[in-house]
Amino acid sequence: MDLLDSWRDLPAAQQPDWPDPAQVRGVADQLAKLPPLVFAGECDQLRAELAAVARGEAFVLQGGDCAETFSGATADDVRNKLKTLLQMSVVLTYAASVPVVKIGRMAGQFAKPRSKPVEVRDGVELPAYRGDMVNGFGFTAEDRMPDPGRLLRAYHAAAVTLNLCRAFTQGGYADLRQVHAWNQDFVANSPAGRRYERLAGEIDRALAFMHAAGADPEEFHRVQLYSSHEALILDYERALTRIDSRSGLPYDVSGHFLWIGERTRQLDGAHVEFMRRIRNPIGVKLGPTTSAEDALALIDKLDPEREPGRLTFVIRMGAGRVQDALPPLVEKVTASGAKVAWICDPMHGNTFEAESGYKTRRFDDVVAEVEGFFDVHRSLGTHPGGVHLEFTGDDVTECVGGGHEIVEDDLHQRYETACDPRLNRSQALDLAFMVAEMYRT
Ligand code: PEP
Ligand code: MN
Repeated sequence: MDLLDSWRDLPAAQQPDWPDPAQVRGVADQLAKLPPLVFAGECDQLRAELAAVARGEAFVLQGGDCAETFSGATADDVRNKLKTLLQMSVVLTYAASVPVVKIGRMAGQFAKPRSKPVEVRDGVELPAYRGDMVNGFGFTAEDRMPDPGRLLRAYHAAAVTLNLCRAFTQGGYADLRQVHAWNQDFVANSPAGRRYERLAGEIDRALAFMHAAGADPEEFHRVQLYSSHEALILDYERALTRIDSRSGLPYDVSGHFLWIGERTRQLDGAHVEFMRRIRNPIGVKLGPTTSAEDALALIDKLDPEREPGRLTFVIRMGAGRVQDALPPLVEKVTASGAKVAWICDPMHGNTFEAESGYKTRRFDDVVAEVEGFFDVHRSLGTHPGGVHLEFTGDDVTECVGGGHEIVEDDLHQRYETACDPRLNRSQALDLAFMVAEMYRT
């Protein structure tokens, strides 16, 4: 049997109950013939950049929607998210003087693990929404029926999104001379926008100085953006795995960086088995119950060569637990000689239900978890390698707190997420300033 199919014999958590397995095989055959979305060489380049992160020489900014939707694959939506990511990245690069590795939770984040397989509303029980790659968001039996045709639509939505990302980041929009332009619609009505505008002014002066001195490096004119998503639906990921003609090695060309979620990281499960076979840089989410032994066993399976940049641990412990739960992991992993990158997801350990029923997060908890993460690494002499966030480019009201002070009663105003609550643009930019400050001190 092809080693790329060895996962098929193992239990695979969180897979859809497809009504007709033959139909899934047909779709997978079609997907296997479609062009790669990303290239092996780009994945190698990201692996090298993540190695620099593991050494403490660069910082990851990873973020985007909790769940992308097919209807969100529009020029406006993608540009707004990208604009926010670029602004955050400029803040971090300039204010913390650190190279920032930019990774979108974009162009493939279409599948969701769920804590319950069904959703009940007013006595009606239907399958839970598992992301646009699997079923529809509407609360009807028709929408919630898993449809393998959606795997193909996910591929095409990812292709459209990546095309926009590549055009925006390589075609002049991401040029550093545009730092003000990204902020234009934002500066007047937001304290975060005004703070950003001052920083953009400083960057302008620095650019003018460099220009006068005869320097105009290529790096100022374009941005390298990588794509990432949770590798959840294994039939999709397997169908998009190709043998690289240069090296003869398999790459999952659905995205540059793929991660295993907190709910699918079982050591003898199908996800770990599949991911150990691909050459992409990969991540694993680690929640508050992770033991050091779990982390070491994951390294043995996923990064047996201890190759810097191959494996990133994405910590999501919760603001109240990170200070206690993270140190034993970092200590034992470091002592083992593994060179993993550590990044902090301050979103998924801090979700709660507001009295109104909306799933939300407190901005202060998000900040506190990042602070705890920095504290742990600083006290152990290891490297806080980055942040993994859920945010959007729009002024949604999904997380409470932040400079604009959204309160629980505001949540209904613009609650638009298809899954978890995201930081809005002000909250995201505020957080970037705070993280830059933590990095510097
Ligand atoms: C997510 O990243 O949206 C997610 C479900 O995270 P986790 O696996 O950490 O719960
Ligand atoms: Mn989420």
